[in-house]
Amino acid sequence: MINKMIAGAGMKIFKGGIQMEVSMDKDHTGVIVVDVQGDFTHFKKGSLAVQNTDQDYIDAVLSTTKQLKSKGYKIFATQDFHPENHISFYTSHKNKSAYETIDVEGRTQVLWPPHCVRGAENTEILIDKNLFTATIQKGMNPKYDSYSGFFDDVGMATGLDDLLKSHGITTLLIYGLATDYCVKATAMDALKSGFKVILVEELCKGVALDTTASALEEMRSAGIKIISRVSDLPSF
Ligand SMILES: [Zn+2]
Repeated sequence: MINKMIAGAGMKIFKGGIQMEVSMDKDHTGVIVVDVQGDFTHFKKGSLAVQNTDQDYIDAVLSTTKQLKSKGYKIFATQDFHPENHISFYTSHKNKSAYETIDVEGRTQVLWPPHCVRGAENTEILIDKNLFTATIQKGMNPKYDSYSGFFDDVGMATGLDDLLKSHGITTLLIYGLATDYCVKATAMDALKSGFKVILVEELCKGVALDTTASALEEMRSAGIKIISRVSDLPSF
């Protein structure tokens, strides 16, 4: 009860000289673990392994997620889940290499190595599934990519927005892979969907340093609160 009262009272966090108020209410706060899947990690020698995703990273994500779960937060996961001929794979296009970009109906599409193909071992989420209230799969349409856990590249809803709202969630803690792509897209869409968004930086890893730095800046200036670790939260 006391914890709840303190949590509900909000707390001012000072970071980089900017005063940010983070109001936490566990009953209305959810967690989204973004794409912590084998193919995005060095831990599983993934095809699209993000830097600094060794076993220590997975252990940190797991232990924090367990802590949050034990404190009563509802945990949701997103999972990149592609067909074999997905548009984001360079192998789906003639004479293209990984990391080239192409134009798809006016949108820039990065061509990635094939990753997170449905049914493949490295598509599995590396965190105990029993922690999750639900897992939202994305990128299942071969024609469209979906970095965001909320909407694909042509705005088709995944159902995550409705699901979170049906659980009464108004604030989201977000972390996972990769900071500069799916984490950013998910966090920005969460904000646009009306949620307060807190990003846990220590549990996010990016594909490249420059795009990671600019993604963090973009999120911060859009109004997303960025904290280093969950122990910075008022209720920890
Ligand atoms: Zn993908």
